[in-house]
Amino acid sequence: MTADCIFCKIVKGETPTEFLYQNENLVVFRDIRPHTPVHILIVPRKHIRSINDLTETDSRIISEMIFVAKETAKKESVSASGYKLLFNVERGGGQVVFHLHLHLMGGWKR
Ligand code: 5GP
Ligand code: ZN
Repeated sequence: MTADCIFCKIVKGETPTEFLYQNENLVVFRDIRPHTPVHILIVPRKHIRSINDLTETDSRIISEMIFVAKETAKKESVSASGYKLLFNVERGGGQVVFHLHLHLMGGWKR
């Protein structure tokens, strides 16, 4: 836990954020400023700054995040139409919240 990390606060339930799904390792919620019709974040409970900071022991959580993204895409009815999964890495890569998260983006009209 990093005291001033907004996503640490969210995963601990300290903000009024509605979870679409949660388990002991991660939480799933909608992006507050969606860039696409469906824009969801998959966030590990563990505070990891970015993909750069992953260690061998984090490999399970990464695969779980991708699996949960797939399941969430199905629930949001974007599996067939298609979607993007995105990690922004550090400032140059567009990261603004320095707690690892996977963007699930889809739902574009044809
Ligand atoms: P990044 O650019 O770091 O990959 O993406 C961070 C995302 O988190 C942004 O799309 C931003 O809109 C979202 N975000 C930032 N603060 C909050 C918040 O307090 N609640 C929610 N639901 N999303 C947030
Ligand atoms: Zn954090």
